[in-house]
Formats: sequence, structure tokens, C-alpha cells
Amino acid sequence: MNAVVNQLAEVRKKIADATLSAGRESGSVRLLAVSKTKTAAELLCVYREGQRDFGENYLQEALDKQKQLSDCEIMWHFIGPIQSNKTRAIAEHFDWVHSVDRLKIARRLSEQRPEERGPLNICLQVNISNEVSKSGLSLQDLPDLVKAVSELPNLRLRGLMAIPAKLFANRDEQRIPFARLRETLEKMKEQGYSVDTLSMGMTEDLEIAISEGATWVRVGRAIFGERN
Ligand SMILES: *Cc1c(COP(=O)(O)O)cnc(C)c1O
Repeated sequence: MNAVVNQLAEVRKKIADATLSAGRESGSVRLLAVSKTKTAAELLCVYREGQRDFGENYLQEALDKQKQLSDCEIMWHFIGPIQSNKTRAIAEHFDWVHSVDRLKIARRLSEQRPEERGPLNICLQVNISNEVSKSGLSLQDLPDLVKAVSELPNLRLRGLMAIPAKLFANRDEQRIPFARLRETLEKMKEQGYSVDTLSMGMTEDLEIAISEGATWVRVGRAIFGERN
């Protein structure tokens, strides 16, 4: 458990250093602790160090941990692929969803969001570098989804998310998909959408993502260690 505390401190330092060297305001990059496959006890360890935002990929696993940690003030983020039969529980039990990539899912989340919880924060997941994973919509399809989602009453469209392929030879190539996501968000702003979020960067590439404008980095292994 001590290892996790040290690793969290190292990740925080990495984020602070990368934020500074990018000339960005301190605190403008937030850490989402990705806790899939990790136990409630491991999350609690990080929570006690002041971490409040946790990202989960698998609904049932997340709901189990939410029950065990119900005394904690945690902001829960859903970041995995979404099947339509899971939308109700996601709408009821999460604060953010980073992985919306089609209208059917967005509509259901909006319809099923309990009113007393306020609008659900949404990022649209874009397949920015034709990653192997089938999640994410293409840039061509993005404008229509942005328009439709921004009109749904119980969602708050915050921005974009991507998981770029890691097959790049060097840092210059690695930054291309992140830059493209940033430019896409800037275009949305120019069109009048009040979006503020770029969810990009993980254990291997968080520094490059920060240099290209990430506002959430989603970090698992660098905090919790390898997953089994
Ligand atoms: C697992 C996962 C992460 C964290 O990846 P690490 O390499 O462990 O930092 C981030 N985002 C998504 C969508 C994930 O599924």
C-alpha cells in the first residue's frame, strides 16, 4: 500500500512538472485515478491522500466498489465501452462519462439521468488515430453528434476523449493525435459550444498529452501498479 502512496506522489509531480514546462496554469490538469481491477482497499489508500476522482471501465465492478466506499466523497467517472442495457445504472451512479460515442447511448443517458443529480458530464470519445480499439467515433461523424448531444437536457457536453494508438516511433509522432484532438475542441469552441475538457493521456504518454492541452489525464498503472 505504501508503494501506491509513493507512486501517486510521483504521478502528481510528473503532472505538475509537465504543466509548468508547457507554460500552463498550475492546477489546470486534473488527475483521474483509473482503478479498474483494483480493490476498494486500494482506492481508499489513494483517497486518503486526497484523490477524489476515480475512473472505472466495468459497470458491475464499479457498483460493487461504490457500495463499499459509500462513505467517501468520490466523483465517479465511467470510461469504458457502453452497452445500451447499462445506461440506466451509469446515469444513476456516475458523475462523468468519458466514453460516449453514439447518439443512442447519449439519448438514453439523458432520459435516465435522475433529475436530483443534475446534468451528467459527458465527453465524446473520438477515434483519432484509427486505434485498434473499436470505440470512438470518427472525426467526420463528430459534428452531428456534438450538435445532437448538446441539445439533450440532462447531459452537459464537456469535451472530447481519445485513446491514441501507442505505435509511434518518437515523441513528435506521438503528439499528433493529441494535437488533433485539441484542434477539434478549439473548433467546437469557435462554433459556440461551451466545452472545456480534453480527456487524454495515460501512464505512457501523460506528459505529451499535457503539453498538447489535456485537462484530465487518466492514469492507472503508474499509480496502482500493473493489472493482472
Ligand atoms: C485502463 C485505461 C486507462 C489507464 O491506462 P494506464 O495505462 O493504466 O494508465 C485510461 N483510459 C482508459 C479508457 C482505460 O481503459
